[in-house]
Amino acid sequence: DMGFKTDIEIAREAKKQPIQQIGAKLDIPSEALLPYGHDKAKVGQEFINSLDDRPNGKLILVTAINPTPAGEGKTTTTVGLGDGLNRIGKRAAICIREASLGPNFGMKGGAAGGGHAQVVPMEDMNLHFTGDFHAITAAHNLLSAMIDNHIYWGNELGIDERRVTWRRVIDMNDRALRDVVTALGGVANGFPRQTGFDITVASEVMAILCLAADLDDLQSRLGDMIVAYTRDRAPIYCRDIKADGAMTVLLKDAMQPNLVQTLENNPAFVHGGPFANIAHGCNSVIATKTALKLADYVVTEAGFGADLGAEKFMNIKCRKAGLAPDAVVIVATVRAMKMNGGVAKADLGAENVAAVEAGCANLGRHIKNVKGFGVPVVVGINHFAGDTEAEIAAVKAYVAEQGAEAILCKHWADGGAGAEELARKVVELADSGVAEFTTLYPDEMPLFEKIEAVAKGIYHAGEVTADKKVRDQLTAWEEAGYGHLPVCMAKTQYSFSTDPNERGAPEGHTIPVREVRLSAGAGFVVAICGEIMTMPGLPRVPASENIRLNEDSLIEGLF
Ligand code: ADP
Ligand code: MG
Repeated sequence: DMGFKTDIEIAREAKKQPIQQIGAKLDIPSEALLPYGHDKAKVGQEFINSLDDRPNGKLILVTAINPTPAGEGKTTTTVGLGDGLNRIGKRAAICIREASLGPNFGMKGGAAGGGHAQVVPMEDMNLHFTGDFHAITAAHNLLSAMIDNHIYWGNELGIDERRVTWRRVIDMNDRALRDVVTALGGVANGFPRQTGFDITVASEVMAILCLAADLDDLQSRLGDMIVAYTRDRAPIYCRDIKADGAMTVLLKDAMQPNLVQTLENNPAFVHGGPFANIAHGCNSVIATKTALKLADYVVTEAGFGADLGAEKFMNIKCRKAGLAPDAVVIVATVRAMKMNGGVAKADLGAENVAAVEAGCANLGRHIKNVKGFGVPVVVGINHFAGDTEAEIAAVKAYVAEQGAEAILCKHWADGGAGAEELARKVVELADSGVAEFTTLYPDEMPLFEKIEAVAKGIYHAGEVTADKKVRDQLTAWEEAGYGHLPVCMAKTQYSFSTDPNERGAPEGHTIPVREVRLSAGAGFVVAICGEIMTMPGLPRVPASENIRLNEDSLIEGLF
């Protein structure tokens, strides 16, 4: 402990403005805001519809090197950059994801940023917020209930009970629910079958809410979801169960983006939060598009490192929503460079320029990859208190060799003032008009080739392997009309390879595709390369053991 205040202590001291005042900064009339208390509001759908003809602001993506246990700070940098842009006189807003309850009660670490670059009210944002995730949970489980009910009342559709792929969800880390048997207890309770729970953020409903253009699109995508198969393997859609209408009703409010503020009273849209492995890991399209109509610069974040997060942002979100980023910030830290250079977490305190230099290969690979999307790149070095001058200079020198610039940012310690230089550079890049966004592969490319395009083009793998079963499945989906979909890679976030311990910039490795899944409503084919957890467990000592209300009814222990 170096005497710093905790995130929650800083957040508690925030001088928040009423949400109408925050909306006014973007010229959102107060009647277009649906307030949830004094400091949160949803932006009304009718107002959003009225923005269609307006021009778009510039879109800036914040991504990062491969995460290490040293921490990178993408959200912190997204918030800091948004505040920095406002400080230099730009009309800027940020767009980030909502938090899942599961991880909050499991491992320490919130979703609202950190230090003096946070979104508030951070307690609400990390807890129930405006109820969006509860609505998604309810919509998802309504469909589960209707499937079992359909089977119970005679199973007219001929659902094979062993081939119901639609599971149940809860927004909690609960490993006991991973595999369960439902409908035990006798005839009146239905037909027992094996199923399980995923965490809400892994629900296809979450991915759909984050990709849908509007409520009509939402309902049609929900209807497209495949929930089961018949004995002769014909798909049963959500539409066949007739759940899509009621699910849309449950999601009507959740579809409207949430507006809150940063510690410096700048507008922040916080909306949606799909997993970054089996889904695309970005906030909602509707929030990003709304922000682009209202602000001149919109800063948004993608989950994990650039190999997963930025790749999916470009190849899934931007492709589907017709968005094109104008600049990308890659967040790097001296500590993470050191870890990539082979230093153990316990030894991060000591200066080690050689390790920083060795670890920079990971950053270099990401810079090259992102440039491949035709978008200009700047590196933001998220400053940690122990970083030395020589280490920082080493990162800057390396990045300059890669034909980019690395800028030291101190927003965690100093708020927006610490990110002004980065803000100026981002404005320069975004306004330069040099971005010529291109996706990595065309829609027409066969599915397996798309997987290879990502594996070779982004991960620098030598080959992709898959069983005949996997290849046959992809061919069958192509024949069924799903061949135009993008692929959603589910791989470890810690490495360019499938080995989480292989840091740096490995080359020539093999990417084994173990399983493929079709998210027909969200509109992507998931390629599972390694162990992917869709229901996390709690650690031996969960964060929840230390979360409580203090004497003043303030929340303690939430980071
Ligand atoms: P990411 O979005 O990449 O997962 P976050 O921005 O959420 O990372 O940051 C993760 C944690 O690291 C937060 O608790 C935050 O307070 C902390 N953190 C971020 N930047 C710094 C920094 N410069 N110094 C100290 N702690 C930091
Ligand atoms: Mg984050």
